[in-house]
Order: sequence, then C-alpha cells, then structure tokens
Amino acid sequence: VKVNGSNSWSIYTPEMNDKMIEKIKIENELRKAIQYKELTVYFQPKFKENLSTIIGAEALVRWNHKELGFIPPSTFIPIAEETGLIFDLERFVIGEVGKHVQQWERKKLSFGRISINISHLHLYQDDLVQTIDDVLSIYNIRASSLELEITETAMMDNELEANMKLSLLRDRGIEISMDDFGTGYSSLSYLQKLNIDRLKIDQSFIKEMEHQNGNEAIVSMIISMARHLNLKVIAEGVETLTQKELLSNLGCLEFQGYLGGRPIPADEFFAEYLASGKA
Ligand code: C2E
Ligand code: CA
Ligand code: CA
Ligand code: CA
Repeated sequence: VKVNGSNSWSIYTPEMNDKMIEKIKIENELRKAIQYKELTVYFQPKFKENLSTIIGAEALVRWNHKELGFIPPSTFIPIAEETGLIFDLERFVIGEVGKHVQQWERKKLSFGRISINISHLHLYQDDLVQTIDDVLSIYNIRASSLELEITETAMMDNELEANMKLSLLRDRGIEISMDDFGTGYSSLSYLQKLNIDRLKIDQSFIKEMEHQNGNEAIVSMIISMARHLNLKVIAEGVETLTQKELLSNLGCLEFQGYLGGRPIPADEFFAEYLASGKA
C-alpha cells in the first residue's frame, strides 16, 4: 500500500483499514448529502474597527449528518477534494450564497460582501467563472456583493492561469482575498503582479500575537506590506479585545473572529446583523 502519495511503502495495518473504510463512508455520505442538499451554509460576520458595523460575512459550509452529527469541514473538505466532490459542493455553496444575497438585496440591506471559499482545484477548473456568472444572472445579484477567498498556496500553483482567472472575476466587480496569508511563500514581486484586493492574515499568527513576540512583528510586516502594495488587509480568528487593539494599532482595519461573532445560519445572521440595522 502506498502511503500519502509519498515514495514510502508500508505494511497494511488494521488501523489503516479502518481509516480507509471511514473515508469511503464519508465519501458516500457526502455524495448523498450534496445530492439531497443536506449541507447548509453558515455566515460569519466581518467587521470594521468599531465592531458594530458589519462589512460582510464569510460563507462556511456545514454538514449535520443524521447519525454522525456535525462533521467538521476539516474532515470532509480534504475528502471532497480527493474525490472530486468539491466541485459540486462549491457549486452548492455558491448557489446558496446567491439565494440569500438575492433576498438581502431585495430588502435593500447593505450587508457588504459575502465571501466564498474556493478550492485550489476549482480555481483551475474551466467552469469557475461561468458558475459565478450563472449565479449572478440567475439570482440577479450584484457582483459587488461577492468576494472569493482563495488560499495563498492555491494561487501559487499556476501563477499565470490564476492571474488570468482572477482578473476576469475582478472585471465583474468581485473582490479577491488571499486566504491563510503568511502560510505560503509569496514574494513581494509575486504579490505585486497578482490580481487581488486583500490579504487575509492567517489565524495562526493572530492566536500567538499576544504571547510570542515574533508574531507581532510578522503581523506588523504583513500589514505594512499590504499598505505598500495598495491591498486591503483583514485579520481572521480574532478572539480577544487585546488582539483587536493590537491589530488596530498596527493599522489593520478589518476583523473576523469569535470576538465579533461565530458562524451562524442565514436566518440567524439576518436577525442578528441585518434586520437590526447593524449593516
Ligand atoms: P478558513 O477558510 O480559514 O475559515 C476560517 C475557519 O476558522 C472556519 O472554520 C471558522 O469557523 C473558523 N474561525 C472563525 N473565527 C474563529 C476564531 O475566532 N477562532 C477560531 N478558533 N476559529 C475561528 P470552519 O468553518 O471549520 O472551516 C475550516 C476550513 O474549511 C476553512 O478554513 C476552509 O478552508 C474550509 N471550508 C469551509 N467551508 C468551505 C467551503 O464552502 N468551500 C471550501 N473550499 N472550503 C471550505
Ligand atoms: Ca476562508
Ligand atoms: Ca483562512
Ligand atoms: Ca485555513
């Protein structure tokens, strides 16, 4: 049995067998969940400095299985990517976002932008731009209501192709954020050439900011780099007021994290942040 796509071979163990069975089970269940629309999309608010005005939300997929309960995205997204289910999964998420955005736009709410996570596989798939165009026209929503989050490493797979796609999307008025920024190895010159609007500082740096001296320097560097490159910058995983204050002082003006609010279902998001006039 070949392990992890590496070149090492190992003996087939019962434990591995269990893992493989588990994986196949999740794959089958996920296929059904997508087909029967058992996935839902939650929304986590994003804030400006005063934490009372939202500037948008991130759409995050949730899977509540009848018997297994909530299965975290960190378990099923990698399996979806391995099995190609990710394309249908993301089309579903994009469609759900379109549907909710349509309702919110019709109510004349200014909710900012709703961001959607796009896998590196989908970025390089021919249909991505078409899928987005379809949702824009089916639901008749503004491109300026949408944002895509694509990881730093995903963009680096194929710089030229990524840039071409990103420019098509940005031409329509969709913003592009580079997710998990700081975990890859982008150079300054690479960032300068890339068609993006925003860096999203990975939450691992935010978590350690209060404790390790080194991380505050990294965060500070990312923020000033963004400024020099004329990019917006958002911090994710902001859990404490101390973190938020530190970030504000360093010049970061956009925040997302449990401090502001957790991901919640669309109707709760509407009630909590939109109906109350917080938007
Ligand atoms: P991500 O894109 O980096 O999303 C941020 C994750 O951090 C989310 O986890 C969110 O719930 C969590 N989070 C937000 N604020 C805080 C905080 O203050 N503290 C902590 N500890 N965590 C916080 P979630 O929803 O479990 O998603 C995990 C990952 O799964 C996402 O990471 C993303 O890579 C992937 N994912 C989720 N939904 C989708 C989707 O629709 N499509 C794709 N391709 N990936 C998705
Ligand atoms: Ca994200
Ligand atoms: Ca992230
Ligand atoms: Ca992440």
